Amino acid sequence: MLDPARILQRCDALARHSELPGGLTRVFLSREFRAASDLVLGWMREAGMQAKLDPIGNAVGRYEGDRPGLPCLMLGSHLDTVRDAGRYDGMLGVISAIECVHVLHAARKRLPFAIEVVGFGDEEGVRFGTTLLGSRAVAGIFDEKVLEAKDAAGVAMADALREFGLDPKEIRGIARKKGDVLAYAELHIEQGPVLEAEGLPVGVVTAINGFSRLRATLKGVAGHAGTVPMNLRRDALAAAAECVLAVERVARANPELVGTVGRIEAKPGAINVIPGEVAFTIDVRAPQDALRKQAVAAIRSQVEQLAKARSVGVEIETLQEFGSSTCAPWLMDQMDRAVKRKGFPVRRLPSGAGHDGMALAAITDICMLFVRCKGGISHNPLESITREDAAAGVSVLSDFIEHFELSA
Ligand SMILES: [Zn+2]
Repeated sequence: MLDPARILQRCDALARHSELPGGLTRVFLSREFRAASDLVLGWMREAGMQAKLDPIGNAVGRYEGDRPGLPCLMLGSHLDTVRDAGRYDGMLGVISAIECVHVLHAARKRLPFAIEVVGFGDEEGVRFGTTLLGSRAVAGIFDEKVLEAKDAAGVAMADALREFGLDPKEIRGIARKKGDVLAYAELHIEQGPVLEAEGLPVGVVTAINGFSRLRATLKGVAGHAGTVPMNLRRDALAAAAECVLAVERVARANPELVGTVGRIEAKPGAINVIPGEVAFTIDVRAPQDALRKQAVAAIRSQVEQLAKARSVGVEIETLQEFGSSTCAPWLMDQMDRAVKRKGFPVRRLPSGAGHDGMALAAITDICMLFVRCKGGISHNPLESITREDAAAGVSVLSDFIEHFELSA
């Protein structure tokens, strides 16, 4: 029997592995990450899977089909969190998938395909500033240049992996071939308010919005906050303030666009010094790639103009870009049918947030099931779901798995 109480207990258990006292922060390759991965690997084994950490730090469990070595239906989500996170974003999908396998195993049931459950090691990209590391590696689109990316303490990703006991040279080897993965299905909290507003426990995702991430660096001149007159200043932070508002203006111009400046750093960062250098991030998302690209171009040109008007130097680099990913119609249809069989109304909706499926789409067809979350809140300790909704989500996922068939 699927056990929604156990799912929620396991989300609680993972949330205890946090580097933030009293809250939840668990970044890639941290000590807490190790403890959480060990728990997940243990649950996978209990559910009858062969389980191990792969060279990029994904927790991977495999439940063989009716004969060994068959291609798999891949299920999963991520085990890393943002800073001061909630306990369901990512983890709910991994734990629910394990629960589905647990039930098969208890009934000694094998399917005509294998099931793999992956707890991706890094989806959020908090530690090294680049997202989807685990799923990119599995999809064979891991960019080895990011191994040189450094965290805030100056530790390169390659060194962090080695320190964790993993060999970065082996990452290439975990790339799956097309055909090895029949499809990828992910259960995730909605992270938005639509299902709650419509009184629905679950929704079937149609597409995942694409995103662009940039970093702008403005270079002015640092100086004494008391002696340099206002008209002679080249204040990089005042210029950045105008740029932040420009990002907001561009994004507000179209209801399908969102734009965010989430991080800003001013140097030298003293109360009595005019900021000489400021770096800030820009995150732009949209369901259509053309719309997103247009917005990024508009932001770039406005930032450049604003900097020029203040005689401040500017450099804008693209950190990461991902096109929008469409969920496969044949998988959405099968997920719709599972939703109906479980007695829920079918609702399809797009995803404004990025997910591991974006990377997996490089090698296989993807689909997602959203579970209602309270107030549409995520990336926040207030993130919450009800036991009934956890039950609804896992029952639909389980039904989807047991009825899964390849499209003709
Ligand atoms: Zn997530």
